[in-house]
Amino acid sequence: MKQENAPATYAHLHAPLLAWFAANGRDLPWRSEPTPYRVWLSEVILQQTRISQGTDYWRRFVDAFPTVHHLASAPEQQVMRLWQGLGYYSRARNLHRAAKIIDEMGDFPRTYAQILRLPGVGPYTAAAISSLCFAEQQAVVDGNVYRVLSRLFAIDTPIDTTPGQRLFRDLARDILPPGRAADWNQAMMDLGAMVCTPRSPRCADCPLHPHCAVFPDGMAENYPVKRGKVKQRERRFIYIWVECGGHVALRQRPAGDIWQALWEPVLIEATGQQTTALPDWADGALLVRAGMKHVLSHQILYADAYRARVQQRPTLPDGYRWVALEQVDRYALPRLVQRLFDV
Ligand code: SF4
Repeated sequence: MKQENAPATYAHLHAPLLAWFAANGRDLPWRSEPTPYRVWLSEVILQQTRISQGTDYWRRFVDAFPTVHHLASAPEQQVMRLWQGLGYYSRARNLHRAAKIIDEMGDFPRTYAQILRLPGVGPYTAAAISSLCFAEQQAVVDGNVYRVLSRLFAIDTPIDTTPGQRLFRDLARDILPPGRAADWNQAMMDLGAMVCTPRSPRCADCPLHPHCAVFPDGMAENYPVKRGKVKQRERRFIYIWVECGGHVALRQRPAGDIWQALWEPVLIEATGQQTTALPDWADGALLVRAGMKHVLSHQILYADAYRARVQQRPTLPDGYRWVALEQVDRYALPRLVQRLFDV
């Protein structure tokens, strides 16, 4: 790490990056009218989502719920349905819970510390809202910021360690230009997204390249440094779409596992390598998909899908209900189930 070579002040970085941002910053829809509600919505939606996909969802949410009061008053199923396809459904549930809290408060909280208390809001989102909407001097630290700072100062402390996170958080705060946190935060994120990209960064177009520690050696792709990847847990799901008299059996997924509160057809989870027999009532079921791989942040699912038509409703474990086929589109289903059964 060469951070000891970094200058004591960062003023020489401010003018070039802020000028670049004024000319090249992304034209994102919430930036034209950065109310706390619109910015919060964008930050929650974009946490694990590409910007092009996230922007479409953001527009759908703002159209359906123009204010936090509209969102707070909506039934949870409507919120989940609109969120469908984005994954990480706990974000949608927290968004809805936080909307109810804000609605009861009567106004959006105005400081970093107050915003941080909302469900689903971490330091990144609180810093983004408080700096963009309330001119607080708070630094956002997301993947883009880690990447730009680690390259700019050739920092090889792993970003997935406590010392690394502390170091980057402090540096991001110290580098803020006085009174310009909003523009600076957006400029850093845009530079990371558009120029200082994970692969093949466009260093020749970068306004900071005269000051960048890794630029002369062309070593940008070696940064940021990570200690190691978390091993993903593998699971095997067998889904049976069982229809009886124009109805299908669905259940709401329980708390404490992935996709909490989303709906799914009959599920058998296989353990280890053993093969799992279908229940007797599913004799004659058709295998429509085998071994479909579905990757989540900490799990890899392999799923088989069967369709069964039965004359009598079988006895199913607790929690399943029979839903008329024409009403299935009112139920929020995990993306995997949609892919398996084309629903
Ligand atoms: Fe990133 Fe290259 Fe700019 Fe350095 S010069 S900050 S590596 S884009």
